[in-house]
Amino acid sequence: MILQLVKADITEICVDAIVNAANTSLLGGGGVDGAIHRKGGKAILDDCIAIRNKQGGCKVGQAVITTAGNLPAKYVIHTVGPVWNGDKEEKNNLLKACYQNSLELAVQNNIKTIAFPGISTGIYRFPKDRAAEIAIKSVRDFYKISEIDKVIFVCFDEESYEIYTGLLERELL
Ligand code: ADP
Repeated sequence: MILQLVKADITEICVDAIVNAANTSLLGGGGVDGAIHRKGGKAILDDCIAIRNKQGGCKVGQAVITTAGNLPAKYVIHTVGPVWNGDKEEKNNLLKACYQNSLELAVQNNIKTIAFPGISTGIYRFPKDRAAEIAIKSVRDFYKISEIDKVIFVCFDEESYEIYTGLLERELL
């Protein structure tokens, strides 16, 4: 498995699946969620509504999959990150679950390349350094990681990019 780090807009990444930091309603929101729905078009929302009608949205830590509509990716995996409020242990575990359940869904759908944004690090206020550590560790620990060819961490801002760079460099020492 190749681990890659880029500073980019995730809606422009050409992979089998991009991950969306969604909310429990699956109806779209701000941040990366808004960008994905805006650029991906109505087909994504239609799939989300169908999932909502079947199972009533998506719980925190869980993931669902839809088309990627007009985006270059084939699929969008929507996962709902925890809102940070200082209740650390529980929130850490929920964020880890987001990464692992997204990867599980990827394996089930024969997805080989997947791109993650910094789930929960925007509107949900998770500390960026803690979230990046959890992201990298969750991917490394995923029990079926050999079935995925490439995982890309997509940073939208310079601060996140530097945090990931520091953590990945430390792994190499
Ligand atoms: P959450 O509600 O889970 O915190 P946000 O969308 O507010 O989700 O933020 C999650 C992360 O996604 C933040 O680090 C934010 O900077 C980043 N982000 C926002 N827009 C994009 C985008 N178009 N591509 C990649 N990352 C993005």
